[in-house]
Amino acid sequence: MSPDNPVLAAVPAAVGRADPVVWVNPNRRPAAQALADCDVSGAEIAAAQALWTRAAPLLAVLFPELRASAGCIGSELLPLPAALGPALGLRPPGRALVKADHALPVTGCIKARGGVFEVLWFAFEVARSQGFSDASAARLAQPPWPQRFSRHTIVVGSTGNLGFSVGLAARALGFQAEVHMSADAKAWKKDRLRRLGVRVVEHGGDYGAAVAAARTVAAATRGAHFVDDESSRHLFVGYATAAAELARQLHAAGVAVDAAHPLRVYLPCGVGGAPGGVTTGLKHTFGDAVHCVFVEPVQSPAMLVQLACGLARPVSVYEAGLTNRTLADGLACATASQFSARVVAPLVEAVVTVQDHPMLRWVDAAWRVAGLRLEPSAAAAFEACACVERQASLPPAHTHVLWTTGGALLPDAVFEGLLAGA
Ligand SMILES: *Cc1c(COP(=O)(O)O)cnc(C)c1O
Repeated sequence: MSPDNPVLAAVPAAVGRADPVVWVNPNRRPAAQALADCDVSGAEIAAAQALWTRAAPLLAVLFPELRASAGCIGSELLPLPAALGPALGLRPPGRALVKADHALPVTGCIKARGGVFEVLWFAFEVARSQGFSDASAARLAQPPWPQRFSRHTIVVGSTGNLGFSVGLAARALGFQAEVHMSADAKAWKKDRLRRLGVRVVEHGGDYGAAVAAARTVAAATRGAHFVDDESSRHLFVGYATAAAELARQLHAAGVAVDAAHPLRVYLPCGVGGAPGGVTTGLKHTFGDAVHCVFVEPVQSPAMLVQLACGLARPVSVYEAGLTNRTLADGLACATASQFSARVVAPLVEAVVTVQDHPMLRWVDAAWRVAGLRLEPSAAAAFEACACVERQASLPPAHTHVLWTTGGALLPDAVFEGLLAGA
């Protein structure tokens, strides 16, 4: 790598060597300042919440597992199993909780918040353009709507989880769905989509290439809607509504979040939409009392390199001499969402990078000790917390939330393979 490589010049040397780092964001700003300029307002997030509420009766009809929650897609906030505490090395008086999105109903991953939301939004758009003004959204599950929706195709590029979430919600409503996947996407993920009646298109390149191909197809298809993981506001605000859910749960658990009781939240980051949306929602809710830490694989620190290099142009991890190869396929993105990067640049506290093997060890520990079924992407939050605590590289927090972003729906054989690898 040339010594005057501008990307390597902008990041700590350890990033280019693919060593784990805690990169403290030099551009973070006081919440009041940053939010005053923020492209995503609290009102926009509240409107997204209103759409979820309106759609709840429809979701309860489409997905029987949501009947108990009356159509609400949410996850539990669990106490960190005591046996995992010492391994995290939490400094007192830290208290840790797990935001259990690995077990989110319908999709078993955080993409239920973004991907399902965008499909619902599109369904309402189509319905409204055809005169739907019924008070009950549940009607959209009945004729003539599924047949009308079938004239539209929802197109998305994905390494797996976003395609699954979008494909599942789209097919449940009657839409056609087409998912463009990179060559390294897992065969079982493609099979699962095909069983839902989703068209799966495979591409030779990486995730970014699959997204680009999906964008081109959607632009050329009449009635198609492209779910753009690299720039969609709908995905972003869908994720952002998780903040209010967490705030309610913390309140119910008697956990204070204020200047004297700062909250640190560890968010696994791929392209940046999910952690960016959640961070934006949390900042609107808790301001300076919440510190959001993104977690990326050492070979795929897309958001870290983007934020470190500034926002003038998209920067990829390849430019830092990295491979974008990781077991954490949910995080294997070479270039960050430019939309998310712009929004979160002043909001993110730090980005932590983690190696594959510790992620696997945490998959194993979380399962053995606590029965949490995590995929490596989700387990990354544990390793990041352990690194920060070991090095005391950030000020102590009163409460730590580890966002476990996916895993409950991994097939047994795949999960057992991960445990064997640990
Ligand atoms: C997609 C995903 C993430 C990260 O979300 P991005 O929007 O890509 O940053 C984290 N964990 C899991 C399991 C995911 O599927």
